[in-house]
Amino acid sequence: MRRQRLTVLGSTGSIGTSTLDVVARHPDRFEVFALTASTQVEVLFEQCLRFAPRYAVMASDAHARLLEEKIRERGLNTSVIRSGDALETVASDAAVDMVMAAIVGAAGLAPCLAAARAGKRLLLANKEALVVGGEVFLQAVREGGATLLPIDSEHSAIFQSLPEDPATWPQRIDKIILTASGGPFRTRAVESLRAVTPEEACAHPNWSMGRKISVDSATMMNKALEVIEARYLFGVAPRRIEVVIHPQSIIHSMVQYQDHSVVAQLGTPDMRGPIAYGLSWPERIASGAAAIDWHRLPPMTFEPLDDHGHAERFPGLALAWQTLEGASGSCAVLNAANEVAVQAFLDRRIRFDQIHHTNLEVLARVQHAAPASLGDLLELDARSRREADAVVTTLGARN
Ligand code: NAD
Ligand code: MG
Repeated sequence: MRRQRLTVLGSTGSIGTSTLDVVARHPDRFEVFALTASTQVEVLFEQCLRFAPRYAVMASDAHARLLEEKIRERGLNTSVIRSGDALETVASDAAVDMVMAAIVGAAGLAPCLAAARAGKRLLLANKEALVVGGEVFLQAVREGGATLLPIDSEHSAIFQSLPEDPATWPQRIDKIILTASGGPFRTRAVESLRAVTPEEACAHPNWSMGRKISVDSATMMNKALEVIEARYLFGVAPRRIEVVIHPQSIIHSMVQYQDHSVVAQLGTPDMRGPIAYGLSWPERIASGAAAIDWHRLPPMTFEPLDDHGHAERFPGLALAWQTLEGASGSCAVLNAANEVAVQAFLDRRIRFDQIHHTNLEVLARVQHAAPASLGDLLELDARSRREADAVVTTLGARN
């Protein structure tokens, strides 16, 4: 079998580096075609040394020049591309078999659509791209004949718990049950959430991740985005998606069938598991993730979301169902607001509880028609970000 050629979008991030860790375990199966990053020149250069990609892409011209210089000094065979649509180019090149989408945020939407239209195997970690893209994204997958595989641990778990033929899913699924760890603030006094710092919000008890998704896990907006992601990946009605808190993150999610039998997928919390599954599906390969030690496993527990004031603690979660049932495009508005609000919180411009306030306010302000193309989606995303910037500026001035 020929080695599979892989482009990793966002290779310097948490998912990107875990992907390359799995790839390095299987030099007979995979070769790296392209690596991309936003600003981390050093890390991307080290990755180029190790994986010898044909192409490397940096988000800015200045960073690309720095990388180019280093690559030239070492005489590597990697070309640095800097054109405006470099990400789309390396995601859709005819030589590529698989694309790992590991950019954070709506910035990953255009290259995801390019990979989908080019019929690639698209490994989706970048959940925001599907939340923003919605039906437009799915249409690109269908028209391009792409294979869309989930990397998010919950969605990988659901995919692993479903029968092979997607045509059988609608009649068989009763419910999709997403597990949530509850993040770092699951038991913290609700009144004290106003004062939490970015450092506290980024200290996740079970997973080590990028800062944006860490804050989303603390607000549980990550789970809201995952509910939307599940809706599009598995084609189920929003009311058939349920969330339960499972603090140990051992059960990664479950499918309840029409007969009320439940199939779940379990594993240690290590993203190399779902990444290896996406890379090798329908086969299985070594991932580097530790096995569950059944003799030392702490008890697995579950908490309903209405316990311990969870509805008050995690008010953003309900927005998933509200936006899914609202006008088409509402999920894109919510995502943009949340990206801006999370960044403003990380920059210490707004408080933790004001992330939700910003999201609500932007949803109320932005009116829109149903987006039908990438252009419509990018316009709606930009407009929602402008509104969010205005809200954040007002809030920040009051704090
Ligand atoms: P991260 O911040 O660690 O890495 C993000 C990567 O994207 C980096 O390589 C960065 O250089 C690149 N990037 C950021 N902004 C960019 C831009 N504007 N243009 C081009 N490149 C850009 O993030 P992460 O934790 O690896 O998460 C990546 C995605 O995977 C997110 O959508 C996240 O929700 C999802 N995800 C992550 C985890 C996890 O365990 N980290 C689990 C499930 C899903
Ligand atoms: Mg997840």
